[in-house]
Amino acid sequence: MRLLIMGPPGVGKGTQSAILASGLEIPAISTGDMFRAMQASQSELAREVRDVMASGRYVDDALTNRIVVERLSRADCAEGFLLDGYPRTLPQLDFLHRWMAEQDTELDAVLVLEADEETTARRMAARAALDGRPDDTVEAFRVRLRVYAEQTKPLLDVYDELQLLRRVDGTGTVDEVAQRVFAALRPA
Ligand code: AMP
Repeated sequence: MRLLIMGPPGVGKGTQSAILASGLEIPAISTGDMFRAMQASQSELAREVRDVMASGRYVDDALTNRIVVERLSRADCAEGFLLDGYPRTLPQLDFLHRWMAEQDTELDAVLVLEADEETTARRMAARAALDGRPDDTVEAFRVRLRVYAEQTKPLLDVYDELQLLRRVDGTGTVDEVAQRVFAALRPA
């Protein structure tokens, strides 16, 4: 299966994506994780990416598209993949779909985890206490929410039009949400 998982910052995409990908035996590909992994390098580009991420804004589309296509071209993605956190902008969406069309493939479904802002803010604060991500500050979280609303939410309308969207209630325990995620992928 070729899937996307979307949702606002702090909703639990990373957690659910790991569970789903291991259940379906497909790789989970997180652009956020790939950008965090770049931080180990001392290059100028790595520094720029780190600053953009710490502010809560999005990394440039061209760079993001390039690292995703490099990753999706590897052999382990041939039978399917779960993209977590990509595409996040309309140009990224256009790029992904053009690239997939060239490969003669298409998406099977787009999951969107939904939760109110109180829940996502609470989860973000819990994660900040655990792993101290530099973009888990109150200020960066505010920017991330705004950028999500402005640049990423419009993608949901596109996927709704394409009848790919599966909305999943992201509140409750990790297990409860995971069960809803698997149920959303079962044929009706
Ligand atoms: P995440 O781990 O998915 O919350 O991503 C953390 C940060 O990485 C985001 O706030 C962005 O700065 C950057 N990032 C991740 N995915 C993308 C993307 N598809 N486009 C642009 N920036 C991204």
